[in-house]
Amino acid sequence: FLEICNIRKEYGPVVAVHDVRLTVGRGEFMTFLGPSGSGKSTTLYILAGFERPTGGDILLEGRTILDTPSHRRNIGMVFQRYTLFPHLSVGENVAFPLKVRGWSKADITGQVRRMLSLVRLEGFEDRSPAQMSGGQQQRVALARALAYDPPVLLMDEPLSALDKKLREEIQHEIRRIHQQTEVTILYVTHDQEEALRLSDRIAVFSRGVIDQIGTGEELYSNPATRFVAEFVGDSD
Ligand code: ATP
Ligand code: MG
Repeated sequence: FLEICNIRKEYGPVVAVHDVRLTVGRGEFMTFLGPSGSGKSTTLYILAGFERPTGGDILLEGRTILDTPSHRRNIGMVFQRYTLFPHLSVGENVAFPLKVRGWSKADITGQVRRMLSLVRLEGFEDRSPAQMSGGQQQRVALARALAYDPPVLLMDEPLSALDKKLREEIQHEIRRIHQQTEVTILYVTHDQEEALRLSDRIAVFSRGVIDQIGTGEELYSNPATRFVAEFVGDSD
């Protein structure tokens, strides 16, 4: 469904991504797990179209998307923080990608309501993001990213700025939404526990390559490298 073929990314002398290859199935929940600087975000930005790789290709349903501009890729994104437009209301935030795509007013109203109910924020349309907690804002960001029904959703440490309780609440929400919508998710975290809880499969990143891809159980019981054994095994 989504193929990342030998992606490489250099920033001058810095090689951010050496050689990442990965195939993700439709509807799969795939997590990129790895330490700081291992190339997780860079790989996600390349998928989103914010960065162009220096080598390799990305195929969505067999066709390259490298020449498709970011806003045409139909790939939703949620970042770590500050993801909402602060001057727009919650409803306007969720409506934004639909307006861009030329939806009618009536369709937008209905869809905004559906999406807010999906993230359990019914009735919050007219609030300003500044009047909401971090966790509520991330749920709005999730609603906005999913509003036009993209086949792929990218999330780069969306919960890392939240406290434990909120994090677990939204993890639960994300899992439920994944089951309800069949969206294919690529999720970045450096939290082993979170990865194990959410993912169908986990790709363990180390210094710009993927050391191993597998279910949490496979990584745990049969690590391919010492790094995987230490990184996945050491849950704190
Ligand atoms: P973290 O967990 O800290 O977010 P990450 O796995 O997401 O880390 P990346 O952000 O992908 O890591 O960075 C990979 C490497 O590329 C790092 O060494 C980083 O310093 C480098 N890098 C990333 N972006 C740039 C840039 N714009 N210019 C130069 N180097 C960069
Ligand atoms: Mg990162």
